[in-house]
Amino acid sequence: MKKKELQVVNSVEEMIEISSTLSGSSKIGFVPTMGYLHEGHLSLVKEAQKQTEIVIVSIFVNPTQFAPTEDLANYPRSFERDLKLLEELEVDYVFFPTEAQMYPADYKTYVNVEEIGTLLCGKTRPIHFRGVSTVVAKLVNITRADFMFMGKKDFQQIVILEQMLRDLNFSTKIIRCDIVREKDGLAMSSRNSYLSTDERRKALCLYQSLLLARKLFSEGIRKASVLKPHLKELIEANDGIIDYIEFADPSSLLSTEDLFSETRVLLAVKIGKTRLIDNMNLAE
Ligand code: AMP
Repeated sequence: MKKKELQVVNSVEEMIEISSTLSGSSKIGFVPTMGYLHEGHLSLVKEAQKQTEIVIVSIFVNPTQFAPTEDLANYPRSFERDLKLLEELEVDYVFFPTEAQMYPADYKTYVNVEEIGTLLCGKTRPIHFRGVSTVVAKLVNITRADFMFMGKKDFQQIVILEQMLRDLNFSTKIIRCDIVREKDGLAMSSRNSYLSTDERRKALCLYQSLLLARKLFSEGIRKASVLKPHLKELIEANDGIIDYIEFADPSSLLSTEDLFSETRVLLAVKIGKTRLIDNMNLAE
């Protein structure tokens, strides 16, 4: 059977026209990405196809979420390959705007979710979540998304964007999707492509330390200050440079000393020059 034709839309106006026309009669599922797609991204697309009638995937490496010292220019890109993958899945629309379309020269408006945006990744990446919230507010508006499918790999991002959607009275709802991992457990990420063979092996320490946290919790440890040194030791034995190891309440993302099943363990670790994140709750 002939595959459904995928439509690539470059212009903001055209995307708004298409989504406004569709939104009256169909539920729109939206998957925002920065491209260089892997199975993690594709799992969100598949979930969107299960739950909604029209699926829009955006590919946009958003400059406002990168600090000048970060990897914007080197961020991996593979548009033709991405398009093939999305065609295979019979996605309806790919929104692929230029920077000038999203941020014209006279652009002035930013969305900032206070407090939660300053925790965890916000400490070392102070403008990151302002960029993410801004671009997602724009994308949700442009795509008229009923549901937005996002990965729990970026757990803080989900919590911040849920707050933003609530605060600004968007009707879009986020569907939280599970983390897709490589066979050995490393969370899939476009940034894994930066890792050398040796670093790729060492990068497994993030997943292993999350599993260690679960194991020690199951053995009865209920204090973050007791658990943390075990994780630190494992990560440092793999030459990981710790940005943070946090035990946090899953709603507020505030640190907690007392541990519960739903407590989220969140990690950011540099392996060589590559900063990786991962997270897990302490028990199902
Ligand atoms: P990115 O292209 O990195 O901006 O990610 C786009 C979306 O894909 C975000 O909602 C991410 O949380 C999600 N994502 C990235 N990696 C994974 C993964 N390994 N499993 C599930 N979702 C993921």
